Amino acid sequence: MLSLETRDILQKSCQEILFDIQMKFFTTLKIGGCVSALAFPKNVRELMKVLNETKKLGIRTKVVGNCSNLLFPDENLDICVISTTKLKGIETNLAQRRMTVMAGETIGECFGEAVKYGLSGFERIAGIPGTIGASIRGNAGCFGAEIADILHSIKVVTSVGTIKKIGADELEFGYRSSVLQRSGDIVISAEFELGRADSKTMIETLKACAAKRKISQPTQPSAGCVFKKFGEISAGMLIDEAGMKGVKIGGCAISSVHANFIVNVGNGRAEDFKALVELARTNVKSQFGIDLEREVEYIS
Ligand SMILES: Cc1cc2nc3c(=O)[nH]c(=O)nc-3n(C[C@H](O)[C@H](O)[C@H](O)COP(=O)(O)OP(=O)(O)OC[C@H]3O[C@@H](n4cnc5c(N)ncnc54)[C@H](O)[C@@H]3O)c2cc1C
Repeated sequence: MLSLETRDILQKSCQEILFDIQMKFFTTLKIGGCVSALAFPKNVRELMKVLNETKKLGIRTKVVGNCSNLLFPDENLDICVISTTKLKGIETNLAQRRMTVMAGETIGECFGEAVKYGLSGFERIAGIPGTIGASIRGNAGCFGAEIADILHSIKVVTSVGTIKKIGADELEFGYRSSVLQRSGDIVISAEFELGRADSKTMIETLKACAAKRKISQPTQPSAGCVFKKFGEISAGMLIDEAGMKGVKIGGCAISSVHANFIVNVGNGRAEDFKALVELARTNVKSQFGIDLEREVEYIS
């Protein structure tokens, strides 16, 4: 718990800040205990201020977007979570087919803007429920497309508090990975280089992808795919073959719709989620000799 004095300092650095707040209200999994503070900077100035003040005060921070790929623990954490979800803004340069987007916009919101101008590139990935900043960090993708495909450059705040522009070609993108996972730079905005298509075709592509998602993914609270693919082998297929669809521990279950999703079926706890992850990993290892790598990030 932060002292009143510390709260006051943080409140002055960032207008919108909550104290002793349960993360389960902010994660797509609907799991997570209390954190000391949850700040929502509404511009880069506020973001820099809150980063600066927490550093001076020796408070640990974690920058998040929509918390759609995270597992927060059940117990309380002495941490200031900094959400980028209020860092909003999209500018379109139609002549150059470029869009400059603040980190807290979602991919879906970018699609919504791009489609007005017939600028294509977001339609296959628009169903990913993440912010632009986090999705670049993890090179989010689906249906054969990745965010890296359309990225031109980003602006980041570095670990020493400077703002830097980085070209997409310097980000060492791989499957669900980028250099940002190692550097810890915080994405504040991104510039995309888009193609041209007619809006009707773009909407049709979006709808086709949404329809595929609807039949292949669960609707209960989740954090998306739990494990990465093993080469070209789907982790969901391996977990399914291991006979684990529908297995339940506490308030979490391996989805019976898609075995690579662990869903919160009611009052799920982080411990339930982790126990299912270990069970799936152990069974896949013993039956197929394959070590699955986790995609969902554990916060501790
Ligand atoms: C139903 C469902 C379906 C999903 N489908 C897909 C899919 O098809 N493809 C896919 O790739 N993913 C999918 N996901 C996972 C998730 O949506 C993506 O990983 C997404 O990119 C995470 O974005 P976020 O804003 O929620 O990030 P968070 O979960 O909040 O954070 C993820 C990581 O990014 C870091 N981060 C957050 N913001 C920034 C920033 N501005 N700069 C640097 N680092 C930052 C965080 O510190 C954390 O380490 C799905 C999730 C759900 C719940």
